[in-house]
Amino acid sequence: MKSILDGRPALKQEIDRLAEVAGYLWQNGWAERNGGNITINITEFADEGIRSLPFIGEVTPIGKTLPQLKGCYFYCKGTQKRMRDLARWPMDNGSVIRILDDCASYVIVADRPVAPTSELPSHLSVHNRLLEKGSPYRATLHTHPIELIAMSHNREMLGRDVLTKILWSMIPETKAFCPRGLGIVPYKLPGSVEMADATLQELEDYDVVLWEKHGVFAQGLDVMDAFDQIDVLSKSAKIYLDACMMGFKPEGMSDIQMKELSEVFHLPK
Ligand SMILES: [Zn+2]
Repeated sequence: MKSILDGRPALKQEIDRLAEVAGYLWQNGWAERNGGNITINITEFADEGIRSLPFIGEVTPIGKTLPQLKGCYFYCKGTQKRMRDLARWPMDNGSVIRILDDCASYVIVADRPVAPTSELPSHLSVHNRLLEKGSPYRATLHTHPIELIAMSHNREMLGRDVLTKILWSMIPETKAFCPRGLGIVPYKLPGSVEMADATLQELEDYDVVLWEKHGVFAQGLDVMDAFDQIDVLSKSAKIYLDACMMGFKPEGMSDIQMKELSEVFHLPK
């Protein structure tokens, strides 16, 4: 069967990278069953051939009107699909959609009629905001990193920037490679408008946000960038927990050491 990736090496490379990340999510134990979502804006790859593709299936409402997304194309993980399957067969476990001119509905254009994730409205709301700001970010990622979720069960760690400070202080690279830190969204019903709105608001100050007792949501230049930021935070969380298991609370780098890091590497916070 013909694929939208045939004869489009740049688009194929982008989808291959997404499949690679899906594999990492599964290998890390962050993507049980159908857990997690990935959405990437692939409008830059939409040539004449893609723009003239016929629709597969019906026009579907997004549930929101997102004016920046008119005519945009996205690859979206399919609803009920597994990351471990997507890693091997991305076009069987996700699809490419086109946002229609009403900015409130979409159609699937390739490769198969795989319905997008139920979290589509929140992912697309973030993409809409990114375009509104002129951001170069093209990827959004939601996953379930074990240690970070465990930390979100501690009320004391949910204060503003409490976890950011702990995680940054475990190893210098975490601050360097996740320089805006970790935002916090208090528990909300998955897939709800409240969850989407709270996430959007927190992403104004952070590239990664922790959903209390649920998981993380990240935005990045591409899917690897979004993944890397979660990965460095997760590494710090593991170091913190290892120290606790050895029977002591880790000291962490001092405020002076972290300030020095920001100055030398020109970090934003
Ligand atoms: Zn989830």
